[in-house]
Amino acid sequence: MRASKMYLNTLREVPAEAEIPSHILLLRSGMIRKLAAGIYGFLPLGRRTLNKIENIVREEMDAAGAQEILMSAVQPAELWEESGRWHVYGNELWRIKDRNGRDFCLGPTHEEIFTDLVRSNISSYRQLPLNLYQIQTKYRDEARPRFGLIRSREFIMKDAYSFDRDWEGLDESYKQMYDAYTKVFTRCGLQFRPVESDSGAIGGNNSHEFTALCEIGESEVAFCDNCDMAATTERAEFKDAVAPEEAELALEKKLTPGTKTIEDVANFLGLPQSRTIKALLYCVTEEEKEPYYVAAFVRGDRQLNETKLVNALNVPEYALAFANEEAMGEATGCVGGFTGPIGLHDCRVVVDSELVSAKNLCAGACEKDHHYINVNYGRDYKADIVTDLKLLQAGDPCPCCGKPVRIARGIEVGQVFKLGTKYSEAMHAYFKDENQQEHPLVMGCYGIGVTRTMAAIVEQYHDDNGIIWPVSVAPYHVAVVLLKPQDPVQAALAEKITAELEAQGAEVILDDRDERPGVKFKDMDLLGFPIRITVGKKAADGIVEYKLRRGGDMQELSAEDAVKEAITLINAERRG
Ligand code: ATP
Ligand code: MG
Repeated sequence: MRASKMYLNTLREVPAEAEIPSHILLLRSGMIRKLAAGIYGFLPLGRRTLNKIENIVREEMDAAGAQEILMSAVQPAELWEESGRWHVYGNELWRIKDRNGRDFCLGPTHEEIFTDLVRSNISSYRQLPLNLYQIQTKYRDEARPRFGLIRSREFIMKDAYSFDRDWEGLDESYKQMYDAYTKVFTRCGLQFRPVESDSGAIGGNNSHEFTALCEIGESEVAFCDNCDMAATTERAEFKDAVAPEEAELALEKKLTPGTKTIEDVANFLGLPQSRTIKALLYCVTEEEKEPYYVAAFVRGDRQLNETKLVNALNVPEYALAFANEEAMGEATGCVGGFTGPIGLHDCRVVVDSELVSAKNLCAGACEKDHHYINVNYGRDYKADIVTDLKLLQAGDPCPCCGKPVRIARGIEVGQVFKLGTKYSEAMHAYFKDENQQEHPLVMGCYGIGVTRTMAAIVEQYHDDNGIIWPVSVAPYHVAVVLLKPQDPVQAALAEKITAELEAQGAEVILDDRDERPGVKFKDMDLLGFPIRITVGKKAADGIVEYKLRRGGDMQELSAEDAVKEAITLINAERRG
């Protein structure tokens, strides 16, 4: 490809709304173009890289025995009514109507569509197991689209759905997908970690997220250097330490004027924060159900993990929101800044398990400017639910081995999930076994954010000058920079090198533009092609400059050696 003919549009200026390297560099390199908030198009180089990522995904899915199909992005509301999700999905679901007023949505995911497809064709155990996938455009009307391709409203996902006759079969399908994902992200060059993740109220070891490690990532993962525990902090279990034996002291009310925070009251009473109880007040509002208040309590020095609270209450995530303190005060007796478990009424009380054995704690007295000391569970208050509500933080004990955990940030690029029979039961997708008995299909679902993966790669592979594509996903492998296109000797050598590289399977961009060398070098660095071969003054002697984008010295090589080096490197790395 000649750069002079290419639809190439690099920008010198950093677009104002772009805050993170991948967003800035993908826009600056002209690989993507913004059309509206969270909506992007892909220009020639961007499309090429996207194709490469898609093909890696495709090859690994095919190798794992999954079969590719392509379903529509437009989905009829009836299927979502059947699964029960039309009313619970919330505002992320991009709802549309046709000219007759019929409801549809632009699919954010395809469980309903695949379940519907399979229920109409699968009737016997002999047709199982089955794994179908697609690489397709998804729509989610995200509350805060940002970071370019990382959280967009239109994006490309690979989604696969497996159908098995039982949970053992699902375990096998799940493992195949887990292994395929490991291969996909390795081939893309990503530093990543598969981590156990939250699988909602069903619990169990039913989901993993594949997290590309990177500081700007929105996911937080906890892991242990001593054992192989790795989980999202949302999911990570917190094992309570055994509380020391202590006699229960008499409950006492204390005047604690103006001490609205845990820190204030702990300082005022001269207590460590670990001897206090923190209250968090919520309202649960589920569609078509009576709203109710929730008071959750954790130790003063802990953070509450809302995912654990949502699971304990067994409500959808969207239903939980902080309560309006005044309204909740009237209904339940809580008092802003002075709420404790004693004196509350008409709300669900959820208590972190650690508080049950801890003795003589300090808690708000549900009365302005007052706290209780020597509060003890069982004697002074009870809970509707006792469960682990804690967020695991850096230095907390590993739930598996007890050593201090570490926390890292990352980008969720994929997820594998055991759905079980949730959709097959709701939508009546059944098969018959050997004895003509009917059973619901046991399902798994598996997503890869293809466009998000592209951004994650840039987050991990860039420097101040631009992108540094790994060979496996680079839009072109080699940039042949022709310094003086008017010079027939230079031009002839650059053409020859390009032709030889292409003959040996390399993808080459020949920068034959009538631009200053500085401009060309800057552009080629920004665009991030792995290998640069510069044809300049020494062309008459058959000598060129050979340089890798990832670093290392510039070498002067004969044109033949430069081609040889380039081909060796490309062949070693093109599969990732
Ligand atoms: P997140 O928690 O980041 O919103 P999710 O858990 O909602 O993601 P899934 O429903 O599991 O995501 O979707 C599968 C994959 O699709 C994710 O692992 C991610 O890579 C990608 N993805 C999800 N939402 C977006 C988005 N708004 N923009 C780009 N990619 C996305
Ligand atoms: Mg999401």
